Amino acid sequence: MTLDRTLRPLAVLGSQPAFAEPLHVGRPNMGDPVRMLERISDVIDTRRLTNGGPYLEEFERRIAALAGVDHCVAMANATIGLEIAIRALGMAGEVILPSFTFIATAHVLQWQGITPVFCDIGRDTYTIDPAAVERLITPRTTGIIGVHLYGQPCAVDRLAEIAAEHGLRLLFDSAHALGCSYGGRPVGSFGDAEVFSFHATKFVNSMEGGAVVTADANLADNLRLMRNFGFTFYDRVSALGINGKMSEMSAAVGLTNLESMDAFISVNRSNYERYRQGLEGISGIRLVVSDESDKRNYQYVVIDVDETAAGLSRDTLQAVLWAENVLARRYFYPGCHRSEPYRSMFPTGTWTLPETERAASRVLSLPTGQAVDLDAVDTICSLIRSAVALAPAVRSAADTRLYREALTIHDASQLA
Ligand SMILES: *Cc1c(COP(=O)(O)O)cnc(C)c1O
Repeated sequence: MTLDRTLRPLAVLGSQPAFAEPLHVGRPNMGDPVRMLERISDVIDTRRLTNGGPYLEEFERRIAALAGVDHCVAMANATIGLEIAIRALGMAGEVILPSFTFIATAHVLQWQGITPVFCDIGRDTYTIDPAAVERLITPRTTGIIGVHLYGQPCAVDRLAEIAAEHGLRLLFDSAHALGCSYGGRPVGSFGDAEVFSFHATKFVNSMEGGAVVTADANLADNLRLMRNFGFTFYDRVSALGINGKMSEMSAAVGLTNLESMDAFISVNRSNYERYRQGLEGISGIRLVVSDESDKRNYQYVVIDVDETAAGLSRDTLQAVLWAENVLARRYFYPGCHRSEPYRSMFPTGTWTLPETERAASRVLSLPTGQAVDLDAVDTICSLIRSAVALAPAVRSAADTRLYREALTIHDASQLA
């Protein structure tokens, strides 16, 4: 197949937007609607709404099997899953984590009075740099949280060595990495525990949901206890707990979507391949490639914009795409250390995170998943090609107040 390399008229220069409806990053993937409705109506008929119903148990079994471990404790969301795992692992004092991640990875520590210690990432990996982790260890350090960003596993083996050497807990925020593997072993089987997210925007969703997976039976018992207020029996509370339970409705949705996981991967993969072809040879635009020696879910299609080579910045390119109704996202700008409360908590210069700063100013996530077909990918690629080809004109148009305002309005609607 030969790709169409002709340039397109651009909305930022006065043409009609390429897409009539907004194309979102992370529009939910949905499994078989008939199975979905059967299960939902079953939940309604049986009135088993929560507290460990049959769908929850089946969902936990399937996720544990996927992760290659014996225990899965499903949660209301990944954030509460991380909080409970952190507490059950006895983390305290300081915990080292990357700043280049979704804000929840830091909040779950700070929320419990634990100091997040932000670590830089590797330039090519975008994940936590083990050498930098070692430099940040102090007598107060109790643990490390690695994040498999964009579904690319972080340096799992090296982090495990460092954790063992210093007697630290090792937890993975695996919100992006369901269905991925590292060295042939499934993500979910590493460290003391790993935490998946089943939020609507994630690869497999349960609308809202999360799960902690672990090979440690004692830890799993504690997680279950904490998830349900510390109840061990009717009227008997044996420990401090909270409410982290996943509802039966969420489990029914999650289970149904899980059955379509291979279909989601296949759609994501074709989109990814098409983006790879379509973006080839555009000056300054590099697709962040998935390391295909292991399993990937291709849920995040990310480009790195080299402003000098492209003639326009990542932010200008984002404005161009938003004008076309392509709502590309800057995951994860500006980095946790530049977001509140961390930004105010630590004096300027506390963190030297050059690779985090660099990545935060260059990456852009493009729409993919079930809602995006190959024609849409072709259009997005030609929009990017055209923006780079017409960089000087695009730059002055995109820098006008009008487009900055359009971006702000879109941005506010994204917060919902
Ligand atoms: C989405 C996400 C979370 C939070 O997941 P929820 O299920 O929405 O609580 C945590 N960490 C990362 C890296 C995420 O992308």
